[in-house]
Amino acid sequence: MNSKDVRKQFLDFFQSKGHLIVPSAPIVLKDDPTLMFNNSGMAQFKEYFLGNATPKSTRIADTQKCLRVSGKHNDLEDVGFDTYHHTMFEMLGNWSFGDYFKEEALPWAWEFLTEVLKLDKDRLYVSVFEGNEAENVPFDQQAFDIWKQFVPEDRIILGNKKDNFWEMGDQGPCGPCSEIHIDLRTDEERAAVSGRSLVNEDHPQVVEIWNNVFMEFNRKADGSLEKLPAQHVDTGMGFERLCMAMQNVTSNYDTDVFTPLIEKVEQITGLKYTSNEVKDISEEQNKTNIAIRVIVDHVRAVAFAIADGQLPSNTGAGYVIRRILRRAIRYGFTFLNTKEAFTYQLVDVLADQMGEFFPEIKSQQNLVTNVIREEEASFLRTLDQGLQLLENVIGETKGNIVAGAKAFELYDTFGFPKDLTALILRERGLELDEAGFDVAMQEQKARSRAASEVSTEDWSVLIPGNVETFVGYDQTESEAKITRIRKV
Ligand code: ATP
Ligand code: MG
Ligand code: MG
Ligand code: MG
Repeated sequence: MNSKDVRKQFLDFFQSKGHLIVPSAPIVLKDDPTLMFNNSGMAQFKEYFLGNATPKSTRIADTQKCLRVSGKHNDLEDVGFDTYHHTMFEMLGNWSFGDYFKEEALPWAWEFLTEVLKLDKDRLYVSVFEGNEAENVPFDQQAFDIWKQFVPEDRIILGNKKDNFWEMGDQGPCGPCSEIHIDLRTDEERAAVSGRSLVNEDHPQVVEIWNNVFMEFNRKADGSLEKLPAQHVDTGMGFERLCMAMQNVTSNYDTDVFTPLIEKVEQITGLKYTSNEVKDISEEQNKTNIAIRVIVDHVRAVAFAIADGQLPSNTGAGYVIRRILRRAIRYGFTFLNTKEAFTYQLVDVLADQMGEFFPEIKSQQNLVTNVIREEEASFLRTLDQGLQLLENVIGETKGNIVAGAKAFELYDTFGFPKDLTALILRERGLELDEAGFDVAMQEQKARSRAASEVSTEDWSVLIPGNVETFVGYDQTESEAKITRIRKV
């Protein structure tokens, strides 16, 4: 089943269960001071759970573009090194706002996976919350009893508070969750370790696909829990992981979500991607594979962020986007030997592939392409020299910690984000003195503040309205009636 059909099956299924299908919210959040990017499906519905707004329907389903590169959820370092964490991914979700609860949500999840998608029941594991006496939260008996109708008990795993209890914050709605994992190991591999569940052990072929969160409590300021007046369901399923399971492959990058992008990189570079079987191949090939995975992942994230209005820049969310793109560019430069801008060419592939469902990537196709090409060309102008400087620094470094001030020079002169320098150093078994970097950054900020104070010393700041002595410009900026005057 191709990825378009997987997405459609999910939405159709929940529509048939009375859900209103809504579009994804933008990946970039403009008016939430607590969050830069959408990192889960529920973010756009937060106000409904808090009771500050009323949803159009008490049952909603969608697929949400998510980005997990900062804050509480940061998967950046795993991307490319494993085959199932992305920076940007789609989260399929269904919600109940005070409507249905566990009795419906869990059997529906099971029905969808095993009857609609016909995934092998024997490969599915589920987890339920084991309870935590110290925190006064009970074992989720109800979820356990529901699962027992479908799943043999030895495949119902009890999970702790970290994995199986969800909280919005220190206070507010919270509740147990129940995850569904899938075991994609071959029959032989499974037989060899029979009886041992690898769930929660980070095995690349045993992955979490779906999380069902049940908001039934409210945590009060004193830390105690009370039952919420209305109970809610919030679920999130990794779309690319589900496609992996449906397409009988063992890596998200071998699904049709990524293969057209990978083929494009192969075509441009003349290199070959050899899937996720990294164990048996040479170091060089490992590097090629990782670099290709990082590039297709990162460029997809950056393209969607730009399409949603977030241009790369030097601050805030814009700098996160710039950092991701520079990371991808350097992976290409060092490991795929790409010396000219090329990643922008992936935008056309993305637009063809995803434009039908996400029209923004099609309507912004030219803008996104141009912005990426410019960014790429501009970083490539300094990348080579910067890397050479870094080589010199590495050569001069005694011990395994590289001075922060040197890394700051790379940042300041060659546009190397701190985390990029740290990444390159890690590849060489070295560590960056990050605190030293931050100090150098603060010192530079202080210097430039001092410098700007000097240059404006005999000028007052911009002031509105009529002024007595105008000595700044020949013309006043009449519309705004703003001008500069000499201090008297
Ligand atoms: P994991 O334990 O694999 O990191 P998670 O518990 O952090 O996942 P949730 O917050 O429960 O993930 O999100 C719901 C679903 O979204 C997960 O079950 C998974 O299928 C998917 N998902 C989470 N993070 C990523 C990611 N970085 N890339 C792709 N899919 C993801
Ligand atoms: Mg995670
Ligand atoms: Mg998890
Ligand atoms: Mg989870």
